[in-house]
Amino acid sequence: MRRLEERILRDGKILSSTVLKVDSFLNHQIDPELMKEIGGTFAQRFREKAVTKVVTLESSGIAPAAMTALELGVPAVFARKRKSLTLADDLYSAEVYSYTKEERNSISISKDFLSAEDRVLLIDDFLANGQAVLGLSEIVKQADATLAGVGIVIEKGFQDGGHILREKGIHIESLAIIDSLSGQKIRFQKEDVTV
Ligand code: 5GP
Repeated sequence: MRRLEERILRDGKILSSTVLKVDSFLNHQIDPELMKEIGGTFAQRFREKAVTKVVTLESSGIAPAAMTALELGVPAVFARKRKSLTLADDLYSAEVYSYTKEERNSISISKDFLSAEDRVLLIDDFLANGQAVLGLSEIVKQADATLAGVGIVIEKGFQDGGHILREKGIHIESLAIIDSLSGQKIRFQKEDVTV
């Protein structure tokens, strides 16, 4: 998505050769116009998948997930990060190692909001090593729901997540794929390259 790539180049801050900060439009301050376009693009790409629910992880996935859900005309549900490892009966839960915070979180979704009839589109802000998406797909599995696809705003193509998830046959659409952050330069993968 050209507008997203331009925004990343303009406002993204390279924190290291593996971490990009996009606090000014996605992870702290939110640009609603850009989120609307992101939601519209995901909705277009997954329109044929008969999605019944958009699922994400708090907090940075919520804005793009809500906009996508709005466009698809379905609810958005965000998994909560719980400090306690105690599992309640009315929750689906999974373990996720947080890439940026370097800590393990138990994430959960109430059984009230996900069921076997659901076709789920997972949305997240970043894809790095795939832990967040794997945790969310574990929750989809616990609910006996169907994983319709995964929408990622920014995929870091030089990390393993994309490969791991595509190997599992999961349909992933990433709106910007970064090939490298080294040398204080952001390089995108060419749009016509299939991964
Ligand atoms: P994964 O679970 O794929 O290893 O990492 C994805 C999660 O870690 C995302 O939910 C995102 O919040 C966070 N993350 C991973 N890499 C980055 C990054 O370069 N920048 C930011 N802001 N968040 C990241």
